[in-house]
Amino acid sequence: MFEKLIPVIKKANNIAIFSHSSPDGDAMGSSYGMKLILTEIGKNAEVFLQENPDVPAESLMIKGDNTGLEIKDCDLLIAMDSGDSERLGKYEEVFLSHANTMAIDHHVTHKEYAKLTVVEDISSTCELVVRFANELGVKINKEIANNLYIGLVTDTGNFKYSCITGDTLRAAAGLIDTGVNYSEISKILFETKSKEYYALLKTALEKLKFYHDGKTAVLFLSTEDYTAAGIDESEAVGIVNIPSSIEGVEVGVFIRSRGEREYKVSLRSNRYVNVAELASKLGGGGHERASGYSVKDKTVHEAEIQVVEELEKSYDGIKWNNKCI
Ligand code: 5GP
Ligand code: MN
Repeated sequence: MFEKLIPVIKKANNIAIFSHSSPDGDAMGSSYGMKLILTEIGKNAEVFLQENPDVPAESLMIKGDNTGLEIKDCDLLIAMDSGDSERLGKYEEVFLSHANTMAIDHHVTHKEYAKLTVVEDISSTCELVVRFANELGVKINKEIANNLYIGLVTDTGNFKYSCITGDTLRAAAGLIDTGVNYSEISKILFETKSKEYYALLKTALEKLKFYHDGKTAVLFLSTEDYTAAGIDESEAVGIVNIPSSIEGVEVGVFIRSRGEREYKVSLRSNRYVNVAELASKLGGGGHERASGYSVKDKTVHEAEIQVVEELEKSYDGIKWNNKCI
């Protein structure tokens, strides 16, 4: 799978690694996992992390030595977990203007922007990195495994989502065999929330709105809501899943401010609606059950109406039944 990438990587000396804005556990896990793997084969590699990383996931990352490497000195740039070049944020320009670039990603909606690309529709970019290490012939040690495991649990919702296959679990098993402290990772990422988080959750529950006979739940949290609860957005991981976790809801919509008349919208579906398609239509992307997009030059009311109308079209013709088989 990586046969085109590996010779290019072997030739490079200084490698810069990037991922998407507001990096989550998979973006960081695959980036730092990659850094440690490349270091194992004697490369100088550094991660250039974007702003607002998910705080609990970042606290668990094993980042390796600070190399002091600068992007201008790099002969290869690698983008991890980024479905389009815009997601590279402040690094988009430098990435697109470099002669030697590659992207490793798992988004079905991937729009090619690198010279070499590997995209595979699997659970996480970290699952892809496990395959990459195997093909490269690097033994995954406990430090590498720690980072990759964090990406696996993040993008599978702690092994709950429909993106899981037997290969995902076999990859996870291999990582656990190296001695990864999986119960601590799970506790920190999924079982521990601050008091401020619960204050924000209280506001969130009061602000929830329902449409389409309860099939759609929409939550808008303003910058003021976060400030009042005393929590930063990057520390409030998990709120995004609240709307879709309510009984009877098919699609949960989570909207938050990104500046004057600008919003970030996250979509989560339960069984029927392909939200990757819906987000692509609105300029974003993602996966069948989790996707997102940005809105510019609209009021929050207009952004809400836009997604509610799109969802109405998506629901047309669905035969609702909640059986597993
Ligand atoms: P989240 O809602 O957690 O930010 O993102 C859910 C999924 O959708 C992730 O896989 C993420 O990469 C993707 N995603 C979110 N926002 C965007 C966007 O603006 N553009 C694209 N292409 N993908 C997005
Ligand atoms: Mn991912």
